[in-house]
Amino acid sequence: MENSKAGRGRRYIDPGVHRRFDRRNTVFHRRAVYTGFDSYGPSHFDPADPELLELAEARASWTLHDNYPGAFRDSIIGDRKLVNSRPPFRFEFTSSEKASGNIKAVAKRFGASLVGLTRIDGSWLYSRERSGAPVMLPPEAAWAVVMAVEMDRECISRSPALSAAAESGRGYSRMAALAGAVGEYLRLLGYYARSCGNDTALSIPMAVDAGLGIMGRNGLLLTREYGPRVRLCKVLTDLELVQSSNDYPEPEDICSGCTLCAEACEADALSTDDGPSWKVLTGSNNPGVLRWPFDPEKCFDFWLQIGRDCSNCIAACPAVSRFANLQD
Ligand code: SF4
Ligand code: SF4
Repeated sequence: MENSKAGRGRRYIDPGVHRRFDRRNTVFHRRAVYTGFDSYGPSHFDPADPELLELAEARASWTLHDNYPGAFRDSIIGDRKLVNSRPPFRFEFTSSEKASGNIKAVAKRFGASLVGLTRIDGSWLYSRERSGAPVMLPPEAAWAVVMAVEMDRECISRSPALSAAAESGRGYSRMAALAGAVGEYLRLLGYYARSCGNDTALSIPMAVDAGLGIMGRNGLLLTREYGPRVRLCKVLTDLELVQSSNDYPEPEDICSGCTLCAEACEADALSTDDGPSWKVLTGSNNPGVLRWPFDPEKCFDFWLQIGRDCSNCIAACPAVSRFANLQD
């Protein structure tokens, strides 16, 4: 995969150390408990449980994500695709500007809250998926449509309650609908399109390259519009697009002097250091990345302890107002 082009995210890696991340090193895979993380699955349901309705809603929130084969690359089995063969023609846009405007408008209509376009930097592709399969793209697939889906502020503010976990699941299901439909749209026009959720490539640096935000102390994308209260998905394609620019301030301008996410983290997984560093805390961190240290093992242990995912570091984040203050 050689279609790399330095984007803004590349400024935060040490090319002498950084290697493509092996997705088997995520905490989910390393603990080999991901499929067992089913604390709000039906086997735990009890009619006398006062939280039964919330449990059912949290479980149901994942329905589209979990049951839509083909929405994301890692849910495609074998050669199964939504469109097995593209039409015998390719629609030619009159310019890459026209193509970019069209795909952004289509993505918004399919549910994207934010859309950015970037040439793919090969550094962000996983080296291997969780299955161990190497990640490869056809060389002409040089572009990414990166999309953010807003999560509801009120629901997320209740983290770590089940109603916040349900909003995470709804976010993933909206990602599935969005990435699946945008990929299908491109394939129907005769283009290569690979719809991705968290699979295939790291979404946050791709979103930074696509101008959607910066990575904050909490390890999440911070956007002007929603702070970190978004889910990310992307479609990788051979449709020639126009590179979006990133006019965000540096992460230190927003996060140095604020430690609210770290204080809200009951797992002590986030750092209160003044600035980002090259520190590696666990085997789930990728060396050669300049960022605030993050301990995913502590984070995931907390999820297991409470039996659901947590959004405390999203709920506590004042990035929207900090961006606005910086502009004043
Ligand atoms: S998700 Fe929760 S446990 Fe994990 S880092 Fe954020 S606040 Fe901490
Ligand atoms: S809570 Fe503060 S330090 Fe943490 S990500 Fe948000 S703005 Fe940055």
